[in-house]
Amino acid sequence: MSAAWSFAIARLVGVLALAAAVGWIVGYPSATIVAVLGGYLALNYVRLFRLEYWLRRRRTEEPPDFHGVWGDVVALVMRIYRRKQFHKRRIVQLFREFRRMTTAMPDGVIVLNAEREIDWFNRNAARLLGLRRKIDFRQRIDNLLRQPDFIRYLEAKDYALPIVVRSPVGSDTFLSLHMVAYGAGQMLLLVRDVTRQIRLEAMRKDFVANASHELRSPLTVISGYVDTLADDPGIDPTWREPLQEMRRQAERMRAVVNDLIELSRLEAATAEAPAELVDVAGMLAMMRREVLAMEQRPREVVLSVDSDAKLLGAEQEIHSIFWNLISNAVKYTPVDGRIDIRWWADAAGAHLAVRDTGVGIAPEHLPRITERFYRVDPGRSRATGGSGLGLTIVKHSLQRHGGTLEIQSEQGRGSTFTCHFPLRRVAARAPAAVNL
Ligand code: ADP
Repeated sequence: MSAAWSFAIARLVGVLALAAAVGWIVGYPSATIVAVLGGYLALNYVRLFRLEYWLRRRRTEEPPDFHGVWGDVVALVMRIYRRKQFHKRRIVQLFREFRRMTTAMPDGVIVLNAEREIDWFNRNAARLLGLRRKIDFRQRIDNLLRQPDFIRYLEAKDYALPIVVRSPVGSDTFLSLHMVAYGAGQMLLLVRDVTRQIRLEAMRKDFVANASHELRSPLTVISGYVDTLADDPGIDPTWREPLQEMRRQAERMRAVVNDLIELSRLEAATAEAPAELVDVAGMLAMMRREVLAMEQRPREVVLSVDSDAKLLGAEQEIHSIFWNLISNAVKYTPVDGRIDIRWWADAAGAHLAVRDTGVGIAPEHLPRITERFYRVDPGRSRATGGSGLGLTIVKHSLQRHGGTLEIQSEQGRGSTFTCHFPLRRVAARAPAAVNL
């Protein structure tokens, strides 16, 4: 019990004892006690009234000057009130800072609720997407941003990566849109202007395409002269070996330039690959014969064609995909090894697997193996005439056919590269005229 309470009780007991004594002297003990108690009650009512009056107007009124238990109550109320004021000021300050921060952010931010309606957006989101304050609140985002790519992105619900779309405000502006989930079904849509990156990327592609085209003609001339000189029986024997080396290097350069041109073409192609009828079984049989004719090759090269399914794709690209995988298997498998090529179809589509018993690839390299010029062992790749672009071309060509590349490998034991083509790219029954 607090000191104020002890004092208040002691004082009440003292006053009652005094009233009883005075009442006994004057001959009315009960009446005196009742009168003193009434006065005590009235006094407390007055204090309660003042307290209630102050609580109602505490913003403007000074607190009543009470002592004892009433004083403690006033002090307690004051403390709670100050704490509340402090938290309120802090929340207001935090909110102002948050508003300043989101305004200063170079990116646009939109808060969407579980129904994909706009709850809030910052100034940059309004500028980049042409949103209007107040009018566009509570509108569904897919009603305001109608780009088909964005609608597909929303529906696919795979928000690991952003997508790039043309801005609805200026068609030569490109925006990256990235959905981020938070809270109970809420979403943040982050909007960033990526026009500069897209332009740089386009410049890079143009540069590579132009540079490789420009290199091709002089290289053809140089190779021609080197070939003529190397084949000339009257050439000084000391020149024989350097000329052979020049020939090998020119051949390597030619392979790199051709692969770069091929890659640039694939990157520039926006539409899906055309649907020519490709006789995969015939193509694979021919490739097997080409491998068997090579000087340096694994001992066994087995082809299993488990389906007569033909592919609907760009013949030259399909050829390049299959040949890249098969020639890689040849390059990275020792002569006593084995290569298995299998073609089959099922309910999911058609598939080509090239399995080898070669050097294999360590797991840390697998995620990067399809990057441009990424080589596990650069020395070995160059020695075998590899451009380092083969698998990048495979990946791009497959994407143009709606397909995917699956790689399984164990270092020292071998690798399996599998191409998966979707059903829409499979022509199970070829027309009779083509079947002949
Ligand atoms: P490269 O022209 O160097 O062969 P690729 O893009 O075709 O370029 O392949 C990239 C790298 O992947 C190669 O340098 C090699 O290290 C590795 N690789 C590709 N295929 C195989 C395979 N069948 N076995 C082992 N390593 C492979």
